[in-house]
Amino acid sequence: MVPLTDRILDHFPDPTILLDARRAVRFANAAARDLLDITRVGQDLAMSLRHPRVLEAVDQVLGRAETRAVDITLPGVTRRNFEMYVAGFLPAADANGIGAVLVLRDLTTARRAEQMRADFVANASHELRSPLAALLGFIETLEGPAGDDEETRRRFLGIMLREAKRMAGLIDDLLTLSRVEINEHVRPTAPVDIAGVLLNVTEALSHQAKAANMPIRVNYGSNLPAVHGEADQLFQVFRNLIENAIRYGAKGEAVDVRVEPAARIPGTGRAGIAVKVTDHGEGIPEEAIPRLTERFYRVDKARSKSVGGTGLGLAIVKHIVNRHRGLLAVESEPGKGSTFTVYLPAEQPRQGLLPGNGETVAIPSSDVS
Ligand code: ADP
Repeated sequence: MVPLTDRILDHFPDPTILLDARRAVRFANAAARDLLDITRVGQDLAMSLRHPRVLEAVDQVLGRAETRAVDITLPGVTRRNFEMYVAGFLPAADANGIGAVLVLRDLTTARRAEQMRADFVANASHELRSPLAALLGFIETLEGPAGDDEETRRRFLGIMLREAKRMAGLIDDLLTLSRVEINEHVRPTAPVDIAGVLLNVTEALSHQAKAANMPIRVNYGSNLPAVHGEADQLFQVFRNLIENAIRYGAKGEAVDVRVEPAARIPGTGRAGIAVKVTDHGEGIPEEAIPRLTERFYRVDKARSKSVGGTGLGLAIVKHIVNRHRGLLAVESEPGKGSTFTVYLPAEQPRQGLLPGNGETVAIPSSDVS
């Protein structure tokens, strides 16, 4: 093994180990040394990777021109899934005493994504099935003698309309979510008029706000920096947040929307704006806050359904805010109310000469997305 090859292998992100014909470690690259805590070469592989299926596969190929692939899970703080691939070398003069090469591919993220996709499909089907089951039940009932009764028919049709609307809402939200996810990596580049967006939202929700006797009050701070964004998506964000404030806030109390400059967006250090939506409702238990943006998570399922919720509103908000490289923060005091804050970063000054003062502005690389 020439040192150059060792150095090259050290840059491979996948843990890679060369074994001699007796299964002793001849070389472990940096990723393998980190993962398996290998400090010395010359020891049996079993000292570092005591996994029966790995050792069995290695023994089968050592010194033979054969390969094996085995899926394994390594225990630890976070269990990690790997595909272990091992290829044996025939004993030959140019094999340099190497009996096999073993590579571990980390599949943890891919497996987790697969699991999430499977859970999502199961949850979405379940959410669609219950209104559909209700509709089928009512249709069957109306086909029987109960359908002849005018009053029953009117009542059932009312419920059927509500259930059908729930399904339509759910499908709309599912489509919105998938559309947002598709272009989440593309940051919006056009300036957006936040005041115009908020005006459209308050107009769209005015009927609902009036019915709940909850005025929507919008206030603007001074010196607001300009932000980039996609108006349709930001409309969706503030619509979902203000609609939630109406749904879960105290009836008869105002919903307050405040737009303020933010000197530092938490966790990023960048300047921007903060749009705060505050209600005076029952609030949210502290332990539920980290889960609010999970798909289909609701603090009170029956309550969400009774107000026409789908459990997807805040998941949509989170993805749109991510796309804008912003942040969603939630503060709540049970019994008093909640504030949902959307931070949006200010437009970046262009790298280069600023007009007027002739200075070069350096933009930290972490801020350039
Ligand atoms: P939903 O369609 O159920 O409203 P969301 O994703 O918009 O779904 O919200 C998830 C859950 O978060 C809601 O079911 C509700 O329990 C809780 N929630 C959201 N906004 C508020 C709020 N302003 N006050 C209290 N609870 C809220």
